[in-house]
Amino acid sequence: MTVYLKLMGSLLKYAPQSQSELIQTSLKDRSTVREAIQSLGIPKERVKLIFVNHMGAFLSHPLKDGDRVSLFPAEYPVFADWEGAILRKEHDDEMIEEGKMKKWKCQICGYIYDPSKGDPDNGVKPGTAFEEIPGDWVCPLCGAGKDMFEAD
Ligand code: FE
Repeated sequence: MTVYLKLMGSLLKYAPQSQSELIQTSLKDRSTVREAIQSLGIPKERVKLIFVNHMGAFLSHPLKDGDRVSLFPAEYPVFADWEGAILRKEHDDEMIEEGKMKKWKCQICGYIYDPSKGDPDNGVKPGTAFEEIPGDWVCPLCGAGKDMFEAD
């Protein structure tokens, strides 16, 4: 399917040079806004507000052929409309929810903590965000403390 992406402000730097006004993008059927953003290589943290066909939407919004997606960057000033405020709140929650499932890498040995797997041998259940692991947890490979990990 084909969707049309409009980038605002600093997001324009992710636009292909040939078509910066309205970017025509081919996506697999049932792709979401998230995949549309990824297709241009835009880090989702850079996107503050999403409109699909001029209505507020979230990353998880499913797209259909011919949809028009407008993306506003993180540094845009907040404007005080009621619907926008609620959309941004849920949008932020969605971002945080995804951020929590981030992988973390031990800077000593390269071990990667994957929240979806956890570290069950050491009492960390699958689905545990890195931030939620107890402070005395150590790298299961090299014994380094949590402070030696960086988000991957
Ligand atoms: Fe390690």
